[in-house]
Amino acid sequence: MTTLRLNSRHATWMVLVAFSGAIAAYFLPNAVAEDAIEMLAVAIIIGVAAVATGRLTQHRRAWRWIVAGNAMFLAGDAIYSLLERVLGYDPYPSVADIAYIAGYPMIGLGLVMMGRTGSPERNRGAWVDASIVALGATALMWALVIAPTVADATATALERWVALSYASGDLVLIAALAVLFGRQISPTRSSGLLMASLVTMLVADVLYAVAELGGSFTAGNPVDALWLASYATMALAVIDHESADRPTPIELRGPRLTAARSVTLMICSIVAPVVLLFEVRADHIDNALALIVATIAIFILVVIRLQLVADELEASRRELAHEAGHDGLTGLANRKRFLTEVESAIHAGRHEAVVLYLDLDDFKTVNDVHGHPAGDALLVAIAERLRTVTRHDDHVARLGGDEFAVLLVGAQARQSSLVAEELLAVLRMPVELPQTVVHPAASIGIVEIDGERDVDELMRRADVAMYTAKRAGKDRWRPFASDVSEGAKTWLELRADLPYAVDREQLSLEFQPVVLVDDGRIVAFEALVRWDHHRHGRIAPDRFIPIAEESRLIDEIGRWVLTEATTTFANAPGDGIDVSVNISPRQLERWGFIDDVRRALETSGLDPARLVIEVTESASIDQVDQVAAVLTAVRSLGVRVALDDLGAGFASLRHLGTLPIDIVKLDRSFMRRPMQERDLLPGLVDLIRALHLIPVVEGVETRAHHDLTRQLGVRLAQGYRYGAPTPFDQAWALVEAQRGALDESVSG
Ligand code: C2E
Ligand code: CA
Ligand code: CA
Repeated sequence: MTTLRLNSRHATWMVLVAFSGAIAAYFLPNAVAEDAIEMLAVAIIIGVAAVATGRLTQHRRAWRWIVAGNAMFLAGDAIYSLLERVLGYDPYPSVADIAYIAGYPMIGLGLVMMGRTGSPERNRGAWVDASIVALGATALMWALVIAPTVADATATALERWVALSYASGDLVLIAALAVLFGRQISPTRSSGLLMASLVTMLVADVLYAVAELGGSFTAGNPVDALWLASYATMALAVIDHESADRPTPIELRGPRLTAARSVTLMICSIVAPVVLLFEVRADHIDNALALIVATIAIFILVVIRLQLVADELEASRRELAHEAGHDGLTGLANRKRFLTEVESAIHAGRHEAVVLYLDLDDFKTVNDVHGHPAGDALLVAIAERLRTVTRHDDHVARLGGDEFAVLLVGAQARQSSLVAEELLAVLRMPVELPQTVVHPAASIGIVEIDGERDVDELMRRADVAMYTAKRAGKDRWRPFASDVSEGAKTWLELRADLPYAVDREQLSLEFQPVVLVDDGRIVAFEALVRWDHHRHGRIAPDRFIPIAEESRLIDEIGRWVLTEATTTFANAPGDGIDVSVNISPRQLERWGFIDDVRRALETSGLDPARLVIEVTESASIDQVDQVAAVLTAVRSLGVRVALDDLGAGFASLRHLGTLPIDIVKLDRSFMRRPMQERDLLPGLVDLIRALHLIPVVEGVETRAHHDLTRQLGVRLAQGYRYGAPTPFDQAWALVEAQRGALDESVSG
């Protein structure tokens, strides 16, 4: 059969031509020739349909049963015609009827196979619709065919049985058709054609039965044309199903009550009462009882259908409400929902209620370094952990970004610090993301509701508490305490205003000289950033750089500092003086930093050899490879790198040999340390020299510091003794003064 391939356009034409030929044959004078042409046409139509099933990918077996059922009808036609035309018998009832009647269950089976998709629960609406259609059509069949047949006194018992068999066959089709109709959420052209074919056949059957009841049927009756049309539309349905190759829609929800569906259901549900009316008027009281039962059944089904629609509406309303109250990414409650919960806890007068306010530490770094999908995955993982640690009646929410909150009530609230500890412990476990493993941590602020009536004030306090936890070093919890709130208030205000500092031109640079210890000659300046806040005055970098790092504003601020420092020095009269710029380790986590440096050099025109970038040697350099790679790239531009604050705090020497650097700055705290710690300095300086790096001593305030630096043999130093950080004009005035002194000594 594989060689028998039919192009769907050709197949359609064959069916249409065969159909027209059969219709034209009606006008032939010779009845035998007429029948012969009709048989041939139907045979072609069914043959085309049979071949067309060969290419079906969907419901092939179902379609084959339908075509086979139609082939049985053709066989019936052939026998009927043979008996009537050639042999001259009355063909009704006869063997032809056996062939015909056999066709119905075959088609019915095909339809049932076609409809077997979807979950039964979702299809309750489909079943109700199918039942309404089936009941309506059955009522009509009953009144028009079945009841009169049973009551027909002129018919023989055999004739009655045959007629009832047809009626049963039609009922099978009605049921199958009703099911197909019920499940069709968006009918395809093919399924529409199939239904048209079956409805046409049913109408033809009913007309035939009514004609038989009334007198006798003769071939060539217009009803024949309906049967022909039924064959043709069936074939077209197969062909179209193949060409579109579109699966019968599988219903995800129940079928939608479209206008067409509603009208069909309405017609089907008025059939029974209307027929009832006629029967009552005709005094057929026996039939009336069955019709009343049908009418009541349909009425109940319509009410059930209404209920189903109402349930569906309620379900989608609830879904919408859920979406409105939940965070799309993590599925936790959202801020709005959480605040509502807090509000109701307040109004319930609950004293035992506590809000834990969580902010992930350094989340922005994850987002920037590993990308947003990784950030999202981390948030989802964190949400999952919060869910598992908290109890069912604790309210967990994502307030936005990397902020979460938990509302504890009752016994849980009394143990809020334990809960916080547990949360911190769970959050600390590493999270495996597709590309990397991250070690999350969070800072938690705890605030008790305890009579506070204002939700906004409560959340503000929670925020303050959370920031005290951050300031205390992150990865910890802090309760809200009113005495810390003054400082915390300022902190919050600074955090809120920092994003506008660059645009409002509140940042400025001061410059501190780096000198040759021997003769005090200035060889460089270190640029130090200042923020003049409109309310809080001058803010030292130690206070706002950490805020900038947390919020990633550090990149913008860092760019501003680089540009400002390089342009200032590129335009300074005379050269030979270098400029040092402080860089936060956070900035080095971005590859874009290399471009920032390149652009600053290009726009200013500063000689790269005159620029030094200072990187703090902090324990937080946990991305050493990344940092080293960026530093290498920056050095390849001709810029030098200084390792800042060596020996401060917990900083270790471990990066000294591995990072690509040129200069090492010894932390200013060395100068103030007890004697025995200062004893470390000579060894440290030797180590730095052995690594071919240049040491610089910081924090030289006194004559003693100065002498110590000389003893160490360090040639470069920085400190108040040589000059404090000042605005550029004052700083440059020092250089001019030195030049003047030099000129004098040369001329003098
Ligand atoms: P740093 O890089 O160690 O800068 C030197 C700090 O020591 C400056 O404080 C300076 O005023 C101070 N200092 C200078 N000489 C002496 C002295 O003899 N004795 C004492 N006790 N201190 C002295 P400042 O300006 O407050 O800066 C603090 C820190 O802020 C800097 O430490 C640096 O880490 C950071 N910083 C400053 N400007 C920037 C910047 O533009 N970007 C970044 N990322 N960090 C900056
Ligand atoms: Ca520095
Ligand atoms: Ca330093």
